[in-house]
Amino acid sequence: MHYTGPTYRPPYEANSLLLQVTSGCSHNACTFCSMYRDVPFEASPIEEIEEDLRYVAQGFAPFNRVFLVNGDAFCLSADRLAEIAELIHLYLPHIESIGGYASINNVLSKSEDELRMLAGLGYADFNIGLESGLDDVLAYMNKGYTLAQAREALSRLNAAGMPFNLNIITAAAGKGRTVEHAEANAAIVNEANPTLIFVSPLHVDPGARLEQLVAEGDFEECTLGDYIDEEIEFLKRLEVSDCVFFGLHVSNPVRASGILPRDKDYLINELKLGREYYPKWRLQSVPAKGAEGRMVN
Ligand code: SF4
Repeated sequence: MHYTGPTYRPPYEANSLLLQVTSGCSHNACTFCSMYRDVPFEASPIEEIEEDLRYVAQGFAPFNRVFLVNGDAFCLSADRLAEIAELIHLYLPHIESIGGYASINNVLSKSEDELRMLAGLGYADFNIGLESGLDDVLAYMNKGYTLAQAREALSRLNAAGMPFNLNIITAAAGKGRTVEHAEANAAIVNEANPTLIFVSPLHVDPGARLEQLVAEGDFEECTLGDYIDEEIEFLKRLEVSDCVFFGLHVSNPVRASGILPRDKDYLINELKLGREYYPKWRLQSVPAKGAEGRMVN
């Protein structure tokens, strides 16, 4: 199999076949991210993708889903994605769905008809790094789109019948803005009604531009207690239907997961109980870089 540089996938894609169709990230400029800093962006040659599929098809292939890697595989054109889907179904006819990471701009680059065509080929539940419902936070984090554009992209996906997951970064607005950020995030998530919400606190990746901004005093990080408080405030305001709430990343100081709206009270209670587990000094501390919120057992 071909894998170039680091390869990431969400925790809930652990049982999916990771198929490389791009290397790096086509944006590679988010303020907080250094994941693909040293990997030049490149679309994989179709021959290479077919070679990997042929290899998987020859062996034991217990997958029913393919997760396209790397950083924003949905940046590929609709035609190229259609070509890839046809190859996947040719070599692995039991595959039921195809996902990957997608940015808002990746979605905006496709028409509603193209999205509908891709949904028909099995594309579903892309992991979209929305991150924030506040325009100034999106700009500060250099996401490359506005809130209005995010709304347009998500409504286009809904209209095309392509379900999606949304990533929200708690604490991305910084110190003193947790309630404001929770309110704004809940508003856009409620409007979009995703299949799954992946919530994790802000990572200041070593080497990322944000690390420098923190050192210069331009951005004040939230504390571990703020992470939990913002997640509770966010949850309180969520009005979604049949949606997975996923807060099980290693960076979540209190791990919590459930189905909304059914488990809303349970999840809020779990977060409150988990908060009590921490001594006051830890709640008031900013987690070390690269180990945000990691529990010490
Ligand atoms: S956060 Fe995602 S879109 Fe932004 S640079 Fe990192 S991989 Fe690319």
